[in-house]
Amino acid sequence: MEKSHFYGVLGFPAKHSLSPLMHNAAFRELKINASYRIFEKKPEELKVFLQTLVQQNIFGLNVTVPYKEEVVAFIDRISNETKLIGAVNTIKVFDGILEGYNTDGEGFLDHIKKDLGFDPKDKNIAIIGAGGAARSIAVNLCKMKPKFMSIYDVDKRKLEALASHLKENFPGVGFIQASSIEELNIGSCSLLINATPVGMKEDDPSLVAEKFIHEGLLVYDLIYNPKETKLLKLAKEKGASASNGLGMLLYQGMLSFQIWTGKAAPKEVMQRALL
Ligand code: NAP
Repeated sequence: MEKSHFYGVLGFPAKHSLSPLMHNAAFRELKINASYRIFEKKPEELKVFLQTLVQQNIFGLNVTVPYKEEVVAFIDRISNETKLIGAVNTIKVFDGILEGYNTDGEGFLDHIKKDLGFDPKDKNIAIIGAGGAARSIAVNLCKMKPKFMSIYDVDKRKLEALASHLKENFPGVGFIQASSIEELNIGSCSLLINATPVGMKEDDPSLVAEKFIHEGLLVYDLIYNPKETKLLKLAKEKGASASNGLGMLLYQGMLSFQIWTGKAAPKEVMQRALL
């Protein structure tokens, strides 16, 4: 019998990841002799781990916090778009070569288009956060030709880097590099995205004040644990549409699964495992 193939999520910490549930359910459903594990590695273990994937029979990885940017240096083959994003969340080991992909932004886009019925074309969009996930989402949204995109991050360096990067590559989109939440101009937007970790802890506030939220706004929080952040609660109270990040997790996972196996990911099975 052929030796089992291993896949997994690389991060630190990573033990609370829901990805093993969804990928193992998919492997079982498609009768693929593989299993998906958690690889929680300390920074000093990263290099050796990535250099010995073939010996460990590891065929693919998801990469999560804090390594999405750091792993780029170990990748042998990377698409121009992933290079543009500057962060990798999926690695495929193919013939001993490490291929790097980023499925976060495409997963986000699949969720808002397919399940939430939102078309970004000609829309005004506000993003809070300019980290790895925001970069991937912003690049994918810009490909859909929105009218305006405003971005805010407490880290001015990251904000500046993302904004100038987008301006250069997507000249057709108007950009606002906001220096506060107020400057995001949420009143004129139809999509607001929280791509920061603020909201994960119980005592975290909503980064957006009530006065900025309006009907006709889709508020998307990338956080899925807790299921409803204070921002999402506020959105619902004000009559806006609200979504947490579980759908994005599902779609980015489906895209990773397809990259690794070359097979269509079994959506319902993976979704049921997540829920
Ligand atoms: P990241 O690279 O650390 O980026 C987060 C950014 O938000 C950082 O630049 C951070 O700045 C900034 N930030 C923190 N507090 C802020 C505040 N009060 N106002 C404005 N900006 C603030 O993290 P990431 O990988 O992009 O992930 C972001 C969130 O998305 C996390 O909660 C993650 O779990 C979630 N996520 C969900 C999915 C999904 O499938 N649903 C996928 C990927 C990520 P500092 O670095 O200065 O704090």
